[in-house]
Amino acid sequence: MKLYVLDLGKMYLDESALVAGIHGGSLRNQNPAAQWVDIPVQAALVETAGGLVLYDTGCNLREAFTPDGEDTPSPFEGTEEMLVTAQLKRLGFTPDDVKYVVMSHLHCDHAGYLYLFRNAEIIAADKEFSQAMRLYGLRGFGPGPYKYADFDAFLKENLRWRLIPDDVREHEILPGVTAVNFGTGHTFALTGLCVELADAGNFLFTADALYRSENLGPPIRIPGLIFDSAAYVKSAEFIAAYAKAKNATILFGHDKHQFATLKKAPDFYA
Ligand SMILES: [Zn+2]
Repeated sequence: MKLYVLDLGKMYLDESALVAGIHGGSLRNQNPAAQWVDIPVQAALVETAGGLVLYDTGCNLREAFTPDGEDTPSPFEGTEEMLVTAQLKRLGFTPDDVKYVVMSHLHCDHAGYLYLFRNAEIIAADKEFSQAMRLYGLRGFGPGPYKYADFDAFLKENLRWRLIPDDVREHEILPGVTAVNFGTGHTFALTGLCVELADAGNFLFTADALYRSENLGPPIRIPGLIFDSAAYVKSAEFIAAYAKAKNATILFGHDKHQFATLKKAPDFYA
């Protein structure tokens, strides 16, 4: 089994979206400046004897910043060479070769190329799918990270969904590859991926259930961009306990410093 970490570009945003109050004022520094930071957009591919498992699909280039585009709080910067399709091609695969896609959640920096995976079973949390789809149907997305164009595209392709019920924590996809239901917090419900490798050990991908190491702490620190803060803390506690039980390394969703230390495709963990 091989685990590839895919570098799918960058997003930029105010750092307080990642860790609430990170630049909060104090008596002696009453008006600290906001910090505009870049964060990696990432995905993972697991190559197994039972087929390919992809975790997330990156951000669609249509969301990429253009000089004359509208203002946005979180622009994406990517190139054709960084798209999930290009990364698969470098490894000798096409989207049609992927047997399972695990969607952490349906925000645009994760679901941008989901529509390409027509042959795959798409695994997601039932609550994330059903609540996001409800908002889609009600035209209730607003300016946030769910994008109509992403949903239009994957509905048009009649993707084959496998939804993890709210009360199911673990869904084994293949031996050593398990989707883990982290529940509500960052969004309606978030799905992680646990990969158990023979030599490199176990890895737990959290996606945006934990953006960065600071969110895990201890103490747990909530992000500024959040759906349910009380549930977020419970979800983070669950992740910490799960990782400990599995003796797994936690791979954060958008942690620039951790990401810099990881092997990237075509290099891999095995
Ligand atoms: Zn994200």
